[in-house]
Amino acid sequence: MKVARTISEIRHELAARAPGSIGLVPTMGALHDGHLALLRAAREENDVVVMSLFVNPAQFAEDRDLARYPADEASDLERARAADVDLVFAPPRDEMYPPGFQTWVDVTELGSILEGRSRPGHFRGVATVVLKLFNVVRPTRAYFGQKDAQQVEVIRTVIRDLALEVELRVVPTVRDPDGLALSSRNALLSDEERRRALALSRALATRDREQALAELAAANGLDVDYVEVADFDPPVLAGAVRVGSTRLIDNVVLEGGTK
Ligand code: AMP
Repeated sequence: MKVARTISEIRHELAARAPGSIGLVPTMGALHDGHLALLRAAREENDVVVMSLFVNPAQFAEDRDLARYPADEASDLERARAADVDLVFAPPRDEMYPPGFQTWVDVTELGSILEGRSRPGHFRGVATVVLKLFNVVRPTRAYFGQKDAQQVEVIRTVIRDLALEVELRVVPTVRDPDGLALSSRNALLSDEERRRALALSRALATRDREQALAELAAANGLDVDYVEVADFDPPVLAGAVRVGSTRLIDNVVLEGGTK
């Protein structure tokens, strides 16, 4: 497994492996079994698997949130190696955002509802970095988690609107046995907070907005941001809560399977 730090390095490594299909799995590190499911799917379907490892500052609305985002590159690289990743692209910030950077991708309507309303600029940061990663890696297929359903919808919209030649692959949400959706942010929860956080997946599992809201209102110590039915592909019941200082999101598919 090679680790590339610059755009020219990763392009050079990819050129050396051409031709063949390329699967890209974008991550912000702090890898867990959800990321591993994406890597597994990419490994099964492509000749070359590229994992990007970049905590994208542009998608964090608050500096405090960015500063406390979990990071352990050595252990991430170990996991990537075990998942048979061929290339890791782990650029420093100014490789992705060089001085004078000013070109943004903004999915205007979809990017300003739900998560976008609570985290202004979040999806502009996501869409921009993902388009740049696509442009650098030129993947045949790119892998994203259903856990971030609105992110999937945003990326699907970018691919359609800008006529990108990449196949979007969506992997079902991986959960702990008790139902909590795996998330890098779970590492920030105390035992007590983790116990309270379970109310979110339990509430969404009702697949009924009113019932979910009632369950969350009855749960202790959860600050509910929203619970909404979102007309995505597939439609989901999505929710966001704050537990202590950690914000968590989750969703359940309402009809059809994960595409
Ligand atoms: P992140 O590192 O949090 O940006 O996530 C990288 C990718 O992993 C995104 O496409 C996420 O949607 C996906 N992902 C995160 N958590 C899960 C999960 N529990 N199940 C499936 N995919 C996930």
